Amino acid sequence: MDFTLTEAERDMTELGRAYAEREIAPVAARAWHDERCPTEVLSGLGELGLLGPLVPEKWGGIGSSTAGYVALLEALAAVDPSVAAAWQAHSTIGSLPLLLFGSDAQRERWLRPLAEGTRLGAFGLTEPEAGSDVRSLRTRAERGDGGWVLNGQKAFISNAGTDMSFGVTVLARTGEDPDGRPRFGSFIVERGTEGYSQGPKLRGIGWRGLDTRDLFFDSVWVPDDQVVGEPGGGLAQFLGSLEVGRISIAALSLGTAAGALRMALDYAGRRVQFGTRISGFQAIQFKLADMATEIEAARWLTYRAAALRDAGQPFRKEAAMAKLKASQVATSVVSEAVQVFGGAGYMLDSDIARFYCDAKVLEIGEGTNEIQRLVIARALGC
Ligand SMILES: Cc1cc2nc3c(=O)[nH]c(=O)nc-3n(C[C@H](O)[C@H](O)[C@H](O)COP(=O)(O)OP(=O)(O)OC[C@H]3O[C@@H](n4cnc5c(N)ncnc54)[C@H](O)[C@@H]3O)c2cc1C
Repeated sequence: MDFTLTEAERDMTELGRAYAEREIAPVAARAWHDERCPTEVLSGLGELGLLGPLVPEKWGGIGSSTAGYVALLEALAAVDPSVAAAWQAHSTIGSLPLLLFGSDAQRERWLRPLAEGTRLGAFGLTEPEAGSDVRSLRTRAERGDGGWVLNGQKAFISNAGTDMSFGVTVLARTGEDPDGRPRFGSFIVERGTEGYSQGPKLRGIGWRGLDTRDLFFDSVWVPDDQVVGEPGGGLAQFLGSLEVGRISIAALSLGTAAGALRMALDYAGRRVQFGTRISGFQAIQFKLADMATEIEAARWLTYRAAALRDAGQPFRKEAAMAKLKASQVATSVVSEAVQVFGGAGYMLDSDIARFYCDAKVLEIGEGTNEIQRLVIARALGC
């Protein structure tokens, strides 16, 4: 399989990499320690046209292939996993329900500002009682005259509470099929809508620059023109968007791991013990060699899933494999990188400690790794 990027995709990746090194790197650590989402750099990415990577030009984006998207995300994450996490949640699950399932009027009104980079997108699926088991979600949408009334709560929703956030696309129960199976619809809820409120920014082990909050819906009125697709088709839309989201988490994992490897290599070449650089010790060399090999293995899985999507072929199993493997590689590579740094890597002021904290969530978000294994096992016929 050919994973070669087009010239335009290489240019896009270089543009993002240069911006990340010039503008994001200097603010990354401060924003992380202050637990602040640095929307000024997300806005800067928007000004470069990089907030609509997967959205066609017709709707204000740049219409990159999935493989090009993976390359850009890897470059951003290698500099700052937190900002990259916000960028990727916006670019996939925050935008794709509108792109793939919205009407043209909805795309014009809500997707275009996301793709043109003036607004951030958010995706509201998880609830306090419904994480992996999404069908048990309790947020309800009751039919009214010309619209729906939403009541319920969402948990851990990213990008909904920043000064750039437009609101959220949210999944709610709309009723039951004759056989008793729940039906779900997806609804666009704008910031400022009466009855829609947000909790405080949540504090995580890592990704401290990502704005993640609980959301509350107290008799929120949503007119019919803010229902995405059919009122019973919401779950399929959300799960379809999450499949791309898994390739995205795999790419985010690759970047996190690659950034950690780069720091470990640099440090090993500078740190002197026993009169020699520690990169001269075979024990350190083998660590670095294993880290690089594992990253390369995960990279092939990730690009393969992306290439399948770009070729219009099924990619559910491959996306799950990529997310599973790449997130495991990220957590093990950042841990080994801290080991290369010794005590200096354990201190929270170091960049490598920040990457270490940022990696764990990759095994949890957008479907835990146990759920990825279930997806893979089902595809194997279990
Ligand atoms: C930083 C962050 C950002 C997030 N952003 C968003 C967002 O923007 N939008 C959104 O909708 N959600 C978001 N989430 C939620 C995330 O998708 C969920 O946390 C994740 O899907 C897991 O759900 P849960 O936390 O309820 O865990 P649970 O589902 O309660 O799982 C707990 C444990 O049980 C295991 N488990 C559950 N079911 C099974 C099973 N059938 N077989 C084997 N093991 C099982 C899980 O793998 C896990 O180890 C975010 C979460 C975090 C941490």
